[in-house]
Amino acid sequence: MFALHGTGLGGGIAIGRARRLAMQIRDVPRYHIDADGVEREIERLRDAVSIVHEEVVTLRDSLPDSAPEEAYALIDIHLMILADPMLVPAAEQTIRNELRNSEWSLISEMEHLVAQFDDIGDAYLRERGRDVRQVTDRILALLVGTGRVSTADPGEPIVFVADDIAPSDMLRLKHGAGFAIDMGGTTSHTAILARSMGVPSVVGMQCGTELIRDDDWVVVDGDAGIMICAPDESVLAEYRNRQASRELERAKLRRLVDVPARTLDGTDIDLLANIELPDEASLARENGAQGIGLFRTEFLFMNRTELPGEDEQFEAYRAAVDAMEGQPVTIRTLDVGADKALPVSHQSGVANPALGLRAIRFCLTHPELFLTQLRAILRASAHGPVRILLPMITHSHEIVASRRLIDRARDQLASRRVPVAERVPVGGMIEVPAAALSAAHFLQRLDFLSIGTNDLIQYTLAIDRADRDVSHLYDGFHPAVLRLIAGTIEAARKAGKPVAVCGEMAGDPRATRLLLGMGLTELSMHPVNLLRVKRQVLLSEVGKLHGPVTRLVRLGDPERIGTALARLESTGGRS
Ligand code: PEP
Ligand code: MG
Repeated sequence: MFALHGTGLGGGIAIGRARRLAMQIRDVPRYHIDADGVEREIERLRDAVSIVHEEVVTLRDSLPDSAPEEAYALIDIHLMILADPMLVPAAEQTIRNELRNSEWSLISEMEHLVAQFDDIGDAYLRERGRDVRQVTDRILALLVGTGRVSTADPGEPIVFVADDIAPSDMLRLKHGAGFAIDMGGTTSHTAILARSMGVPSVVGMQCGTELIRDDDWVVVDGDAGIMICAPDESVLAEYRNRQASRELERAKLRRLVDVPARTLDGTDIDLLANIELPDEASLARENGAQGIGLFRTEFLFMNRTELPGEDEQFEAYRAAVDAMEGQPVTIRTLDVGADKALPVSHQSGVANPALGLRAIRFCLTHPELFLTQLRAILRASAHGPVRILLPMITHSHEIVASRRLIDRARDQLASRRVPVAERVPVGGMIEVPAAALSAAHFLQRLDFLSIGTNDLIQYTLAIDRADRDVSHLYDGFHPAVLRLIAGTIEAARKAGKPVAVCGEMAGDPRATRLLLGMGLTELSMHPVNLLRVKRQVLLSEVGKLHGPVTRLVRLGDPERIGTALARLESTGGRS
């Protein structure tokens, strides 16, 4: 038994079998085998294929009754691919005839098969090439690494262990019981996704992939940021106890779902949810969200070769609007670039992608792509209250240019006689220090602000939010960051316009009283954090917080800030 330390993402405790993910699964070992090793090699391939087959069948059996027909169809396609004579049997022939190892043989046959799909004119059939890749990747994942197949029972919980996982891959791994990632800080997009999926995770572990083997039993403690490998019986029992008490705590929190988020002295606080995909809106509702404060639309653009068109985007936005049944949905326009690169964002060779053509900068240089998204958002506004949120605004001319394009998108829809809500508020994200310092000026052209603390901290402190080497310096309570947040809230108060915080800080109950004391009344966070933050709101008295928080923000010494924060937490501002 040994433990590895990193940073927990707060999703609780997972106990499961480790499954290591190769960084680039198709970068597999390729070697020749001896003639007398052929049968063993084929056996290895067949074992992996039969596990994948069983996994797919288990997945099909575990689909809820409400699952859409497409989900069943997709699973059937994967089963057909597993049985396709042109894939696995062809790979077996290659092992026999050319004495190549399983991974190499399978990759070659996969490439032949995909090339045939790529030649098909029909877009639907072409898409099936991706399914062939996915199925092959899954078989390869079992084959690579130790070279043996997993002995885990397919029904057992899986903890994914990886050097890093791209945000797009994360979405495919939703079934994981836990994640243990060597790289990364707590506000990398990978971490955000792990948290939003409510999956216990530890990031920044440094060497987990080197020390953990496939199928090892592991415990991921997402609260303490520890991963324990091969736990003995007493440690397992302790963690099972903790899992049970967490469940109890959750059950208690669930009682707060319908309780209004009002402080002890009667201030109503709006608690909204951040989502990445429209179907997460139901999780937001289950946790009592009063709307969507941040819909990160870029995830609709990931995991695909062609960008989603206007109709497809409209359907996604409308699905979120419908699910929220009259509550506001804040749709952020595409925030690609940096750690959310798309093939179309061409950032691979750029030295500083976080400082490059990211977010609104990218959209303004691709007006057709931007207009397509704006039309889709505006169309959704005819179905319920929608707000448009512009990411990473730094210059006021970016607001002017964006507003012009919003007007143009409106005109285009009007000429097609497509209905659009009369009023669609346009807000800006405050994510760079320049924006925080220009908030009052920006508010002359914006209807609301939303403070993205993840990036604001990154850009204020010059700390790459995804770089583990500097993650210990990433500090949301740095005096400079606090001043920028407080100044932005004050600017919005003076302008009489709404302001929210939608970065990770909004979902951290340790920051709730600080933000309320700054005068904030709107917070948007991952749905899983909503009830814990609500509990903190219910126990706070805003009137008692203003004074101490104003003094705290003036402090320059981080140690004194720490003490003042602890006092806010324990006494709620009462001296
Ligand atoms: C932020 O920067 O705080 C934010 C909410 O945006 P994202 O995390 O998607 O960059
Ligand atoms: Mg951001």
